[in-house]
Amino acid sequence: LEAQYERRFAGSARLYRRAIRLFPSGLTHDARYFAPFPIYAERASGAYKWDVDGHRLIDYWMGHGALLLGHGHPAVAQAVQTQLARGTHLGASHPLEVTWAELVQRLMPAAQRVRFTNSGTEATHLAMRLARAFTGRPRIVKFEGHFHGWHDYAAASAEPPPGIAREGAEATIVVPPNDPVALARVLESRQDVAAVIIEPGGGIWGEVPTTEAFVHAVRDLTLRHGVLLIFDEVVTGFRMAPGGAQEYYGIRPDLVCLGKILCGGLPGGAVAGRADVLDLLAFRDDPARDAREKVAHLGTFNANPLSAAAGIATLQEVATGRPTAIAAERADTLVRRLNEVLERRRVKGFVYGLSSWFHIHLGAEGRQDPQGRWWPVRPAPPGEDLAPHGLVQSLRRAMLLEGVDLMRNGGFLSTAHADQEIEATAQALDA
Ligand code: PMP
Repeated sequence: LEAQYERRFAGSARLYRRAIRLFPSGLTHDARYFAPFPIYAERASGAYKWDVDGHRLIDYWMGHGALLLGHGHPAVAQAVQTQLARGTHLGASHPLEVTWAELVQRLMPAAQRVRFTNSGTEATHLAMRLARAFTGRPRIVKFEGHFHGWHDYAAASAEPPPGIAREGAEATIVVPPNDPVALARVLESRQDVAAVIIEPGGGIWGEVPTTEAFVHAVRDLTLRHGVLLIFDEVVTGFRMAPGGAQEYYGIRPDLVCLGKILCGGLPGGAVAGRADVLDLLAFRDDPARDAREKVAHLGTFNANPLSAAAGIATLQEVATGRPTAIAAERADTLVRRLNEVLERRRVKGFVYGLSSWFHIHLGAEGRQDPQGRWWPVRPAPPGEDLAPHGLVQSLRRAMLLEGVDLMRNGGFLSTAHADQEIEATAQALDA
């Protein structure tokens, strides 16, 4: 298959030979690592992307989960073009940022205040800073295997990668996911925890699923111990429900981190949440009234008008309730069809899906719940996938040769993924 891949994607191979002299590993994002070389995409539309060799591929990356409405949704494209003609950076407060934040507030009642950032990483960085400033406590609890971006506080884990500041690693307490007793032990024994941060849809967008009961337990425990709860909704926001995981589970977090769909496929992010916490960012009319210092946060491209335009167009669609429902329904069908293929072919493994994402766990042991959804029997060891890395690569390579571009072992659906694409994907897996 590797030889076939090299022949079929010759144009990508040529670009990679140039890229390898420019970028470490030839890459601009770690998640795009792919041996012997990644594909180079040229354009995209709806549920498809086209590579430089002219192949049309069903796209399950969907802008790393940012494109709930598919590539090039007319309303989004029009909004961006209109704003492009008016200016890309106005060096001023602008009307679109107001409309944009009003939409966030309407969809997420927890968003009493909003602050736009330039990425999801910046959003979790700022949320953690706000939590420390609000509580006067230094530490953040995160769950092993949950991804919150690449800054030093988010990248801490049982085995932190090189270069992480000691203060970053020490300020972060990593506990196992889906283990309320372990979390309770930490919160009972320590007085220095500012907040607990969680990917409410599961670690690495559900690679390691998080049970609904656990998310509720995290809310109960944080309330009981007076610790803030940060929902990292960079993936789940506007996807699990128009109001994100907080609506899906009926839980009110103190702070919410947003990105991806928020900006309709353009760069950006936001922290939203309790007014009394976010107002630590506010200038004080009367500094004597409140001795606390203002929390620092800047960013040349905060709330940039192009992202605002794309974000507004996207959130207006999301507000109808249709996109999240359609994408989730299509994902359900896809998961069912893919599981049928594995079963019929007697391949060990299963496909797990929630909301509008899915993960193909080849070689892993699963069990079905009463609703028919497959779950991993054992969670993956910290920092590892359920399936060995080589198997994930082989699957991706084989699927690319069949015209499907998986994001790692699965991906995100959009409203542009219809029956035809789902059927073609099932056939590709079968092949
Ligand atoms: N949090 C979660 C849950 C994410 O999935 C991501 C990105 N995949 C981030 C934070 C970081 O966002 P960004 O890539 O925009 O920095």
